[in-house]
Parts: sequence; structure tokens; C-alpha cells
Amino acid sequence: MAILPIITVPDKRLRKISEPVSQVTDELRQLAEDMLDTMYDAPGVGLAAIQVGHPVRLLVIDAANKEDMPPNPMVIFNPEIIAASEETNFYEEGCLSVPEYFADVERPLTCTVRYLSKDNEQKELECTDFLATVIQHEMDHLEGKMFIDYLSKLKRDRVVKKLTKQAREKATAS
Ligand SMILES: [Zn+2]
Repeated sequence: MAILPIITVPDKRLRKISEPVSQVTDELRQLAEDMLDTMYDAPGVGLAAIQVGHPVRLLVIDAANKEDMPPNPMVIFNPEIIAASEETNFYEEGCLSVPEYFADVERPLTCTVRYLSKDNEQKELECTDFLATVIQHEMDHLEGKMFIDYLSKLKRDRVVKKLTKQAREKATAS
């Protein structure tokens, strides 16, 4: 078990576009395991590899967020949205790379995602409600995009400024 450091705003790596995986290797499977450990430890419901500094198209998700639901870890490489509903909904989103900040984001209510499994199989996943939100949020990270980009410039500037100040204070304190 390994807990990896999660990078946060304003780290520029979060704006990088992640590279597709040509084949899932043991090394990538290990990274996925470490990312799951990191996500559960945080705790969070999803994590993209770039959030731990690896610019590869890999996500881990567990959208079984209710206490009475059994854990449902998912490892997803090279995800692609092949269909999305016109109907949208709002969820209050947060992000392990934007600590202690939450905001409503509007996204398609359902989507279908094609991806490569950790056993190198092409699969499709129907996502609705919370899972649809989580997977779309995590997929944005692969494009260097974050949920705060959906907010007004005023709101976004405010949160980036606050986190930049905190990062500076942390750097001088240590
Ligand atoms: Zn995020």
C-alpha cells in the first residue's frame, strides 16, 4: 500500500494533457493500486493520474459513496465518452486538487464511456447520476481541465488566489 502525494492548484502540471496508454503494464497496474489507496485515504471518490503527477490517461473511481454500499473500485484507462444525454443535472463537486472548495457544476445526466480495462480489454460503461458526474469530472483532468473552470471568472480567480496564497505560506513555513 502506498499513499502518493496529491498535487493541488496552482501546480501547473494539473493543466497538462495526459497521454493515452498503448498497453496496460504491471507498472501501470501498480500505479492504479497506489492511486486507489491514495483516493480512499484522502478520502475521495475519484482520482486522475495527473493529480499524483503522472500525465497518463488513467482514472480510479469509487462512486459507491453511501455508507451502506460495498466498495466498488474501478480502474479506467483511455476513457472516451461515446454518448451523453441532452438532459443535464447539477451536482456539488469538489476535487482533491482544490482542497476545501465545493461548487455546483452542470453536466450531462448520463453518459456511455468506452475504456481499456486493467486486463487490456475494451469495455463500455453506462454511467448515470453520481457516477456520470464523477467520471466526467475525472475525464476533464485528462485534458488539463478542472471543475473550477465551469465557474465564473470572479469565483475561479478567488479560489485560485486563496490556494496560491496557502501554497506560498506552506512553502515558507516548511
Ligand atoms: Zn478533480
